[in-house]
Amino acid sequence: MIYPIILYGDPILKKPSEDIVPGSLDVKTLSDDMFQTMYQASGVGLAAPQIGKNLRMFVIDSTPMDEDEGNEGFKRVFINPTIVGFEEEEQAFEEGCLSIPGVRADVVRPTKIKIKYFDENWQEHIDLLEGLPARIVQHEYDHIEGILFTDHVKGLKKRLIKSKLNNISKGQFEANYKVKIPAKILKK
Ligand SMILES: [Zn+2]
Repeated sequence: MIYPIILYGDPILKKPSEDIVPGSLDVKTLSDDMFQTMYQASGVGLAAPQIGKNLRMFVIDSTPMDEDEGNEGFKRVFINPTIVGFEEEEQAFEEGCLSIPGVRADVVRPTKIKIKYFDENWQEHIDLLEGLPARIVQHEYDHIEGILFTDHVKGLKKRLIKSKLNNISKGQFEANYKVKIPAKILKK
């Protein structure tokens, strides 16, 4: 099942998500649906709040970006994750987001992280990630904390993207994938 993607301006994206209680929902079906939703939008990561569910879960498949650099794709489901360690070294990298169509900006983040999580079979993992997987995981992890990549953008650059962000919340954007139009716009 392909879900419509929640866009910037919807309060769901700003709300911190809650842990999933094992057995309370079918995480395998949900992860399959999240991958399908992400692929039809040509994304490399998707967090549950982006499909309207305030749950601590996200999926990642970096294959499309890795192929450009000759790396092997990183595909994984993260449930109830906790980032338990960060490398001090940081790097800037241009990010975008399926919930914020048409906006891209450099975000500075740690280059390596250590993360504890469960997969779709409820197996626990502790992974040390670096490079592209570390970057995508931190972006998606922010989503389940109610943080968007544009929240990290400051100063002049923030002022430059401000009007684009306002336009998205007013329903003015272009996206070639299924999105959820905010209720306040439909009422007008
Ligand atoms: Zn995003």
